[in-house]
Amino acid sequence: MSEDPREGGGRGTRAVHGGARSDRVGQSVTTPVFQTSTYTFHDSEEVRRYQEGRFTRDEYGRYGNPTWRAAERQLVALEGGEAAVLFASGMAAASVLFLSVLPRDGHLVITDECYRRTRQLLDETLVKMGTRVSVIPAGDLAALEGALRRDTSLFFSESPTNPHLRVLDVPRAAALCHDVDARLAIDSTFATPINQQPLLQGADYVLHSATKYLAGHNDVLAGAVVGATNVIAPLRKAQGVIGAILDPHAAALLSRGLKTLELRMQRHNESGLRVATWLERDPRVARVWYPGLPSHPDHAVARGMMSGFGGVVSFELDTDLFGAERFIDALRIPLIAPSFGGVESLVELPATMSFWDRNTEEREAIGIPESLVRLGIGVEDPDDLIQDLETALAAI
Ligand code: PLP
Repeated sequence: MSEDPREGGGRGTRAVHGGARSDRVGQSVTTPVFQTSTYTFHDSEEVRRYQEGRFTRDEYGRYGNPTWRAAERQLVALEGGEAAVLFASGMAAASVLFLSVLPRDGHLVITDECYRRTRQLLDETLVKMGTRVSVIPAGDLAALEGALRRDTSLFFSESPTNPHLRVLDVPRAAALCHDVDARLAIDSTFATPINQQPLLQGADYVLHSATKYLAGHNDVLAGAVVGATNVIAPLRKAQGVIGAILDPHAAALLSRGLKTLELRMQRHNESGLRVATWLERDPRVARVWYPGLPSHPDHAVARGMMSGFGGVVSFELDTDLFGAERFIDALRIPLIAPSFGGVESLVELPATMSFWDRNTEEREAIGIPESLVRLGIGVEDPDDLIQDLETALAAI
């Protein structure tokens, strides 16, 4: 870790200053938006010296941008890795990760509870390239041990997962993976580096949908993968070929969002725990899923892995789909929308949003009843949110 107090200090200091000091122009405090698609060479001699690898610089916008680098350095300072690479979205990050890590006919282990598009990417696209996929229950280490093989390249797991917030014991999962020379990738979108640092617990890659907490304002789509320099290098190369890159302006918004990440997460964590605790006491709420609650099946693991539990609370109402719809329609502060992690609270029913095209039996088999609500708590006053929830519960 750096000796510089701005880069080696606490998470709040690192979030603001981590790596954001070079590539400034005109004494600016912030890194400018380098809105350029390409970079000019002074003369042919410079082109030649660059091609011979005698110095590094930017060449073309698909391979690098100083505004990306500011946000990438901030992420490295927060996650504790060595290198980060930004992408156009979380899904672009997952696509490039899988494409660059998996060999032809490669084997990958993934969890049953997982962002649906990640599973779709494997089942509909990578399967065409011969990828073999083993699916295990989220957080189940015995199942992981059974699924790992000598030819497994990667175990990919969210932690916490969506929507039940299941939490993986990362050090134990990493040991099992490394025993067979497989790598461990954690989608840490729900946790952020403020609440959990999987690289320090043995993971090889941390992936983020930076669209959520990292950018934090419901105004940017972005993704990132962080890890050691040698594991990130092939992803950087693949990013430049595939072109799933982040626009420089979006990178600047991400960099700005990261500066307040630690502050925002304090509020998300505090409100998440308060709201979850409050909901659990209400008889109209059948069950609450929040890893900070002792009733959550992974509470003990989560306490070992995480320093806070985030702003997403999932809960089942004691009603049917129409009652659940009346509930979210009656909410005045949370907006009905997919996503979470921004300053505005967002609410959705997985049954009518991400699982709309699944039949009822299939959805219920993966533990998503029609009355399950996913609430992504923003940074509004928790008292106002609780008051709003109270009023909406009366509308069921
Ligand atoms: N991973 C998780 C856990 C997510 O919730 C999402 C999006 O909802 C993604 C990845 C995909 O990210 P994006 O929407 O930025 O492509």
